[in-house]
Amino acid sequence: MKFEDRTIFVDLDDTVADFRSAAEKILAKKLPPNCRGITDDEWRCIEEDRRFYFDLEIVDGGELMMSTIQTILFQRNMIGCFLSAIPANIQDKDRVCYAKSKWVNKRFPYMRTIYVPTSKDKIKFCEDGSILIDDKPDLVEAWNLKGGIGILLHNCYDVNEKLKKMFDI
Ligand SMILES: [Mg+2]
Repeated sequence: MKFEDRTIFVDLDDTVADFRSAAEKILAKKLPPNCRGITDDEWRCIEEDRRFYFDLEIVDGGELMMSTIQTILFQRNMIGCFLSAIPANIQDKDRVCYAKSKWVNKRFPYMRTIYVPTSKDKIKFCEDGSILIDDKPDLVEAWNLKGGIGILLHNCYDVNEKLKKMFDI
């Protein structure tokens, strides 16, 4: 299989950026792994913290997985792109996109960023053989059905091994 000219799309929140831990800290409660079910009032609370998206930690194993992705992009001349949904409940979407882009540029400057209104819109970017790494099982399934290679992320270490095997590194 030839990978050149294809894109590796990577979800941002809870795939590489640790949104959940930071949100749990602010909201003082546990969130489900997919972080669905955050109320409007809770989104307000997150938005009021102006540093929230700038200061997210990288998830465990995230640096290792991203360094493998960087190697693949360089070796195979592929494009790497974070594909991130900006939740509909967020009021100041421009500011969140700006913060997320700054976060990415500081930590992973070789990656591009695309923002979509909902996670379902990610599917629009699926081409034959393009890769999506995401923590949401329904998205990964839809990506695979459309002819892409969807990789479900439970943890970065497993995905890292999968990528190394896939690209023979
Ligand atoms: Mg996610």
